[in-house]
Amino acid sequence: MTPQPTATALPFDLAGRRVFVAGHRGMVGSALVRRLKSERCEVVTADRNALDLTRQSDTEEWLRRNRPEVVIVAAAKVGGIAYNNAFPVDFLADNLAIELNVIGGSFAIGVRKLLFLGSSCIYPRLAPQPMTEDMLLTGPLEPTNEWYAVAKIAGVKLVEAYRRQHGADFISLMPTNLYGPGDNYHPEHSHVPAALIRRFHEAKLANAPSVTVWGTGRPRREFLAVDDLADACVFALKNYSDGRILNVGTGRDITIADFARLAADVVGYAGDIVFDASRPDGAPQKLLDVSRLTKLGWTARTELRDGIAAAYQDFLKGAGR
Ligand code: GDP
Repeated sequence: MTPQPTATALPFDLAGRRVFVAGHRGMVGSALVRRLKSERCEVVTADRNALDLTRQSDTEEWLRRNRPEVVIVAAAKVGGIAYNNAFPVDFLADNLAIELNVIGGSFAIGVRKLLFLGSSCIYPRLAPQPMTEDMLLTGPLEPTNEWYAVAKIAGVKLVEAYRRQHGADFISLMPTNLYGPGDNYHPEHSHVPAALIRRFHEAKLANAPSVTVWGTGRPRREFLAVDDLADACVFALKNYSDGRILNVGTGRDITIADFARLAADVVGYAGDIVFDASRPDGAPQKLLDVSRLTKLGWTARTELRDGIAAAYQDFLKGAGR
């Protein structure tokens, strides 16, 4: 086995460094830009119309011109259970291209530290819960999002490969299901938190007697506030240098039915909630084992109700339109 390179000295100092947040307009990227304001670093971003990250030569040229020392790969084609299922080529091909271009391009210009964001859907559908990092590649994936999962697994492996072969200080974090300001509120393409905030809000305004929630309501999900994830990313950049992936979550999960009741309550919708079992449930449970990150010294702070209330305020400010 190839020996692991010696880890870079920790803590890694962000002060004075140029940090490229790839995907800064997305929910995760915009939370990272907010969080990095309290670090003494310079954040650089590239607008989508100025740089298409799926184009290799454009991405390499942009990186060569802008010379970031730190790169966070928060750019990805993302979407909820229905969107993933309907656009397999986009989820697989776009994400593979972005990973190859940004990670490979970063290595080519000598980036000092790179953080790649994966997802808890990379773990097998029936992995024992809570899922530890070493569950990766131990069983079949959840079919509704396997395109995205395969692309994210490739990204994780590419990061690991650069560390092994070239000693690059590249790391990967696996966040659980995310929600918060900047989410996509599209009725069909969104994830469950944004979808339900919108649906309950519209039902409240219309005095609708009931709201439909997809699936049986029985799947369990762990929800992490995106600003907590951004904080974990900064923590990991400074304090983590290892080829092993690192889970980020709250360590607590909730059924979709209970989550729907909580979201309805936050939004102020008092009608009935009905479940449409003809829509897919997806994985029966996704709960991460976060003990490695906890031992390193980081824990999530936002209570789910408070986080949903903040996301609802963001929706009301017009993010949903
Ligand atoms: P997943 O973790 O990849 O399955 O992400 P999602 O956020 O898309 O879905 C999580 C769970 O919420 C699944 O069991 C869905 O069936 C359920 N769900 C209930 N209502 C909705 C909805 O309106 N939109 C989405 N995306 N999921 C919903």
